[in-house]
Amino acid sequence: MAHPAEVFIEGWRIERRVAEMAREIGERYRGGRPVVIPLLRGAFVFAADLVRAMGTDLSVEFLGASSYGESTSSSGEVRLTLDTELPLAGRHVLLVEDIVDTGLTLAYIQKLISSRSPASLSTVVLLDKKARRKVEVDVTWTGFEIPDRFVFGYGLDGPDGLYRNLRDIMALPEEMQDR
Ligand code: 5GP
Repeated sequence: MAHPAEVFIEGWRIERRVAEMAREIGERYRGGRPVVIPLLRGAFVFAADLVRAMGTDLSVEFLGASSYGESTSSSGEVRLTLDTELPLAGRHVLLVEDIVDTGLTLAYIQKLISSRSPASLSTVVLLDKKARRKVEVDVTWTGFEIPDRFVFGYGLDGPDGLYRNLRDIMALPEEMQDR
């Protein structure tokens, strides 16, 4: 790796926690045929592991949101980069997000989905930086609560937009965070 970084959550721990969550979520939706919506781009790896371990019939739609630009701290502005294709009205929706930080992205997306009259809306996030929250958001399942560190790997983008393909979640050395 061309950038300094340390392993923050090992791949085997992520795997174990994702399997645990998938079992619980799968049971909750048994027979309900949920629409699973990974929020692109960061949630694509997490969602791929999650849906394959849920063991229930489901469909998948995608939403794309962008709030970060090139920086490691949130701009607070959310831009929709991709929208779902099928109607969500009357469906049980499971939103899948990689990380919740200020909560601005999730709040925006949850409001958008709710406006489309789903039968229910639940949210699963892999990582939660609770201390950074600016707006209250409803998170149904959380993989790991983490401190305020810039992390990447397992779907999340790192320096220069790289490293989404890593199995581990890495963290920038603390002195390199720009806040
Ligand atoms: P929020 O709107 O909650 O402040 O930020 C959520 C979005 O910011 C996430 O979807 C993710 O794209 C990005 N984000 C927040 N923290 C991190 C981080 O530590 N690493 C990476 N790669 N993205 C982050």
